[in-house]
Amino acid sequence: MDDDWICGRLGEDEPWMLGAVNPPVFENSLFTFASAEELGEAIMNEDERYVYWRGTNPTVDLLQRKLAALERGERAKCFGSGMGAISATISSLVSAGDHVLVLGAVYGPTTQFLRYLEKFGVTHTHVDDLAECAGAIRAETRVLYFESPSYMAYAVVDVAEVAGWAREHGLVSVMDNTWSTPLFQKPLTMGVDLVVHSLSKYIGGHSDLVGGVVAGSAELIRPLALTEYQLYGAAMSPHDAAKAIKGLRTLPVRMAAHQERGLAVAGFLAGHPRVRAVNHPGLPSHPGHALALRQMSGFSSLFSFELDTESRQDVGRFLDKLRHFRIGVSWGGFESLVNAPALTVEESVRATMGVPTGLVRLSVGLEPADVLIKDLGLALEGLSA
Ligand code: PLP
Repeated sequence: MDDDWICGRLGEDEPWMLGAVNPPVFENSLFTFASAEELGEAIMNEDERYVYWRGTNPTVDLLQRKLAALERGERAKCFGSGMGAISATISSLVSAGDHVLVLGAVYGPTTQFLRYLEKFGVTHTHVDDLAECAGAIRAETRVLYFESPSYMAYAVVDVAEVAGWAREHGLVSVMDNTWSTPLFQKPLTMGVDLVVHSLSKYIGGHSDLVGGVVAGSAELIRPLALTEYQLYGAAMSPHDAAKAIKGLRTLPVRMAAHQERGLAVAGFLAGHPRVRAVNHPGLPSHPGHALALRQMSGFSSLFSFELDTESRQDVGRFLDKLRHFRIGVSWGGFESLVNAPALTVEESVRATMGVPTGLVRLSVGLEPADVLIKDLGLALEGLSA
């Protein structure tokens, strides 16, 4: 089964589709049963049977089947947000007294959630690399959580090596694969146990939905579908699932365009005298490029670069001069976006994270690369003035 087929057609020949090219949105909070016995049987298997929308929904199910197949997992469970998926996944794997290892830079609210878990007696340790894991692992460590490429720095982690180490030490590995999408990287095939995504980025693709997913073995997904999914209530709506299914239809062509445009923009910035560094694993100059080529089949268009300045005002002026990159959070949509930690993260926090003042994050959208390059060139010239 190839990925294009999965994105466009998998699961769409069911009789209930009636030949429609887009699936129906099952807009009902509950399902009824022909007999009392049937109701009882459905309740016993509520992660698979349609009983109540907070647990299951056929439109959401179709999306789950596609995402499980794209990630080469047995099952997937979709949530109302990426954080819904991340918090439910981590919660399902730990109990009071347990410990989580976090490798490399990860999405800020993921760290915030791990800090929040401290009030339930779950602790965590951040390590920079696998060598540090050996010193940080404890008898109570249950989970190894990471992203590759890493958050904001876009450092490449050796996924197979990390997943192998986790397995050897009896830990469940969980990886956030949002950056690559399941088209460009398949962590489960490299030994990772569970993969999480924010569907709000490239998979949705149109900045019109917030959603999340976790994919992996049926053995790991079933308990969290029965417990955390039902109890936290971060259920995905069928309307958002329908939008994500539409997003998947164009994901292969959009990702090819994002890749091409992102690399063109990153290449331009890498050669500009007012730019100190460009953190894009698709550039041959990136320290993780060779590893990235081994474990990924493409590159998305979210990356950061460092302006040649120590001034927060310069960063603000640079953002304000851009006309085609819009200033905003999030990423992965059709529209190009710019953001800078100097303007959003407190200076003391930024310093502990080692994030330089001049760091700027770009999400390269689907506008022509020459238009975006011209926009950046003019804003960089403005910086020198
Ligand atoms: N993972 C990464 C890498 C993200 O950038 C984000 C959101 O920006 C999330 C997870 C959380 O996703 P959501 O905003 O859908 O909750």
